[in-house]
Amino acid sequence: MCQSKVILDTDNFWNVKDGMEVLIHEYGHILDFLINQILNNQNQHFDSRKYLISSLANDTKITNEAYQKLLAYGVVRSLYGRSTSSSNWELFAEAFTRWIVTPEPNRDLGWEKLDKFFRIDLPTKL
Ligand SMILES: [Zn+2]
Repeated sequence: MCQSKVILDTDNFWNVKDGMEVLIHEYGHILDFLINQILNNQNQHFDSRKYLISSLANDTKITNEAYQKLLAYGVVRSLYGRSTSSSNWELFAEAFTRWIVTPEPNRDLGWEKLDKFFRIDLPTKL
């Protein structure tokens, strides 16, 4: 099981029971795996993690992939999400965690970008 190390967790930002964010993080991995499995079985070359990074940069003028990745790091705000920087495997799971567990009063522009990604952008690929 992965260890979710969300920066903002230190001051109870998520407001969830201990361990719950780790479970949700694992669900993020499952979602990531299934989407890639489904779409790649349909002979589509799809990488959900690259799609996450590029989608978060929508509505910005950031086109350079390296800068898009920095933006994604800023939105997700997880050191652990940066730990697999070449594959972005953990970034996707941490993005999913932030989207699910962020309480309503703490939902900011970054959360709104994640909300758009998980509710609108990603489902259009299925
Ligand atoms: Zn993980």
